Amino acid sequence: MISLAEARALIVRKIPPLPAAATPLARADGCVLRQNVRAGEDFPAFDRSAMDGYAIAEAGPAQKFRIVAQIQPGPAPKCRIRPGECVRIFTGAPVPTGASRVLMQENVRLEQNFVVPLEKGNATHIRRRGEDARKGELLLKSGIRLGPGDLALLAGLGVTRPKVSPRVRVAHFATGNELVAPDKKPRPGMIRDSNSSLVAALTARFGGEIVRQERLPDEFSGLLKKARSLNAAFDLLLLSGGASVGDYDYGKRLLTALGFRIHFAAINLRPGKPLVFATRGGQAAFVLPGNPVSHLVTLHVAVRLAFEQFAGAAASWPMVRVPLARAFDQHPTGRETFCPARLQVKPDGGGGLIARAMRWQSSGDLTGLAGVNALLRLEAGADSPRRGDLVSVLMLEVP
Ligand code: AMP
Ligand code: MG
Repeated sequence: MISLAEARALIVRKIPPLPAAATPLARADGCVLRQNVRAGEDFPAFDRSAMDGYAIAEAGPAQKFRIVAQIQPGPAPKCRIRPGECVRIFTGAPVPTGASRVLMQENVRLEQNFVVPLEKGNATHIRRRGEDARKGELLLKSGIRLGPGDLALLAGLGVTRPKVSPRVRVAHFATGNELVAPDKKPRPGMIRDSNSSLVAALTARFGGEIVRQERLPDEFSGLLKKARSLNAAFDLLLLSGGASVGDYDYGKRLLTALGFRIHFAAINLRPGKPLVFATRGGQAAFVLPGNPVSHLVTLHVAVRLAFEQFAGAAASWPMVRVPLARAFDQHPTGRETFCPARLQVKPDGGGGLIARAMRWQSSGDLTGLAGVNALLRLEAGADSPRRGDLVSVLMLEVP
């Protein structure tokens, strides 16, 4: 059985990035940038006033400045002022040639057509051409995930169709004769399918889109037919349930019959040991153990990396060290363990973080998933951590 680290290295090695496509800014939020973006011109492109006030031309200790013009933000003819002159100016307007600084309007006195400075400081209140970025300077690097601030910068640079990774197309089948839709009342022996909702929500968060999602019984030929009909319509195939070695665990057989190559079928992980990973050309597939906690854990520690690989993004593994709010009792185990947890700001007002392990009766315990935003990581063979111990916690919502 391989370790999680080895499994992650295999995922990185076996999944090639999807081809990038020029995409309008309105659809690029959350996408991974696949080009370097440089400033096409100096930024700002001209000397601009940072204040509402008066742009003055100083030369020696002039006591007052004659107002010769007014400049508003917007298209402006070239303007030059001589020593002893000034212009009325507003924030964002081009500063005239000859001006040495802008006085805030709050810091002057007006005497007829003259401005008398009351300000002592030497701030110029001018944003000089190129002071934010020089033409050609690298501003955004290929591989970052675009957020609202990046989109604003791209817009300012005039890059309206950046090259980004497409959303990863996900097909998901929840397998199990016991599953009913969440809006149905399960008959005895049946349970509601909770994994499909989890997979759909995480697919969206990880930068993917569901192209097909169905609940299917544990019946090999039916499963094979459905999966075959998908053909090349997905990048990532996720199968919930059937990862293990039970008589009706068809996952591995199914992927082999579809022409996938199995790279691993179990990892030394708790929960989530029976995790299958396979590829076929540029497509990838996982069979995830059906238990809800195993599902959440494997989706975060393994499947998320597949999304990142498809997108050409760096692997995110935001592990922090924080104190534990209360003791976490676990049976000694030889497996690397990830327990659903909640990372929160300490209530003492000091701004520190603290982690609390969720209730974890079994990998099937859904009630311990409410409010999960982190996974408490314990190394194989680690003792149960006590209250106040510094523990490793993987953040699920990446800052
Ligand atoms: P399996 O991986 O198919 O052996 O399933 C392991 C456990 O997870 C069983 O108790 C299943 O009933 C449960 N399970 C499987 N699929 C789902 C699902 N989609 N939603 C909730 N529980 C599931
Ligand atoms: Mg099953």
